[in-house]
Amino acid sequence: MNILLTGGAGYIGSHTAIELIEAKHSVVIVDNFVNSNPLVLRRIENITGKKIPIYCINIADVAKLDKVFCKHNIDAVIHFAGFKSMSESLQIPLKYYRNNIDTTLALLEIIKKHDVTKFIFSSSAAVYGYINDIQYIESMPVGHCSNPYAWTKLFIEQILKDVATVNPDFSVILLRYFNPAGAHTSGKIGENPNGIPNNLFSYISQVAIGKLAELKIFGNNYPTKDGTGVRDYIHVVDLAKGHIAALEYTNKHKGVEAINIGTGIGFSVLDIVKTFEKINKIKIPYQIIGRRAGDIAECYADTSKAISMLNWKAEKTLEDICCDTWYWQIQNPNGYEK
Ligand code: NAD
Ligand code: UDP
Repeated sequence: MNILLTGGAGYIGSHTAIELIEAKHSVVIVDNFVNSNPLVLRRIENITGKKIPIYCINIADVAKLDKVFCKHNIDAVIHFAGFKSMSESLQIPLKYYRNNIDTTLALLEIIKKHDVTKFIFSSSAAVYGYINDIQYIESMPVGHCSNPYAWTKLFIEQILKDVATVNPDFSVILLRYFNPAGAHTSGKIGENPNGIPNNLFSYISQVAIGKLAELKIFGNNYPTKDGTGVRDYIHVVDLAKGHIAALEYTNKHKGVEAINIGTGIGFSVLDIVKTFEKINKIKIPYQIIGRRAGDIAECYADTSKAISMLNWKAEKTLEDICCDTWYWQIQNPNGYEK
């Protein structure tokens, strides 16, 4: 298939581009690099040996997006583009509602015009909100989100359901990602945060390489096995492969399907620190501080739907995530700037 990746220069999009090309699909990337670096394209081309058409435009710009669809015969869209910081969304909610929702609306108008019916959306476990009991299963009610970012994901899921209702040919897969982590085993692509990282793995790697003095662990009094927060960390290459499985599924599916993409296993912050230290033989100094606003105690997936419907499950381990994260960091201490 010829797949258009919005936000394809970002962390998850770049890994997915590689897996798609390796699975003999063609890709077209649309990204305005608001949270990515154009140099990632050279790395993807270097790994795959393929030249990728790339358009630097804002996806909310309907006229420019239309031109891309006129030029390429697109079979399916994977919609990664959007802002993703939960904490920033609490500070600047309109930025999140504007970008995440506008890009989706523009894309939906254009795919309708060009008769593209296969659509995969990067949703999030955050749509389960803070009142559901773990482990999260797709049949649970969604809502009670703790930040505007999560609400944008939920609102977009609803928009996609409404649009699919009046377009019976549509096949829409809402992939609810748990915690993506790790990097490509080549060490050539990985997560490249701007400024001080928010997420655990990026923060730990910068402590490991000496850019940050110590990890601050947000709370050790949660009702978890060791008091620190528990999450379901999914290797980004496994996650990328989940998109290929979802694309295959769209060949035999119509309507909208929400599917969890996680491992089904929860690890605490201290588990991560200990595993990172052991696998990479490096010390991670840390200090326990108070809880971070908006955090929940535990979050991990029920993965039975992904296994039964997509025939997909995560294969990589926490050790793989720790090893690949560190390899990417030491190969690229300054991210793609080098
Ligand atoms: P990312 O920021 O690395 O990638 C997003 C890409 O979209 C960036 O390259 C950015 O430049 C681009 N972009 C943003 N707005 C754009 C616009 N208006 N026009 C064109 N390009 C635009 O993020 P990621 O980690 O790769 O996440 C991809 C998707 O997955 C996002 O929608 C995110 O919300 C979702 N998601 C991510 C996580 C995570 O922890 N990484 C978890 C759950 C869901
Ligand atoms: N965390 C932490 N220190 C950090 C970053 C994260 O203790 O510097 C904890 C956080 O409280 C949560 C877990 O690590 O329990 C994962 O946080 P992350 O921001 O990576 O993902 P999310 O909160 O979005 O699930």
